Amino acid sequence: MTVEIARHWRLKAQRYGLIGEVCPTCHGKIFPPRDVCPHCAGEAGPAFQFSGQGEVYSYTTIHNAPEGYEGNVPYVVALIKLDEGPMITAQLTDIDVAEVEIGLPVEMVTRKLMEHGEEGLIQYGYKFRPDLVTA
Ligand SMILES: [Zn+2]
Repeated sequence: MTVEIARHWRLKAQRYGLIGEVCPTCHGKIFPPRDVCPHCAGEAGPAFQFSGQGEVYSYTTIHNAPEGYEGNVPYVVALIKLDEGPMITAQLTDIDVAEVEIGLPVEMVTRKLMEHGEEGLIQYGYKFRPDLVTA
């Protein structure tokens, strides 16, 4: 792998990584970033890069997608408990809806979220897929 490609991947990881904060007072992990720590109500601290790994805490199967998401139904939106503690809501990918269960280990991936018709604008964002390493 060349240096240029390595740098490209690093930049991508920053852009799409789970960036939250860590509290300087109670050291609680915070996501998404905010002004006040939800754990101790102190001032929220410096940026913190989450591992992107966690487990399914609860989930909902979506059969009627909003405009722009129709090609994906049915899909699962899960409340994910990150390894560092915070909860995050995200769509699951690379999994059959019937295989989703509470406690399933998952990891973050960057995926295409939606397309805007003929202009072909594509919005990217994070989703979570089964974490096969720790599963
Ligand atoms: Zn705190």
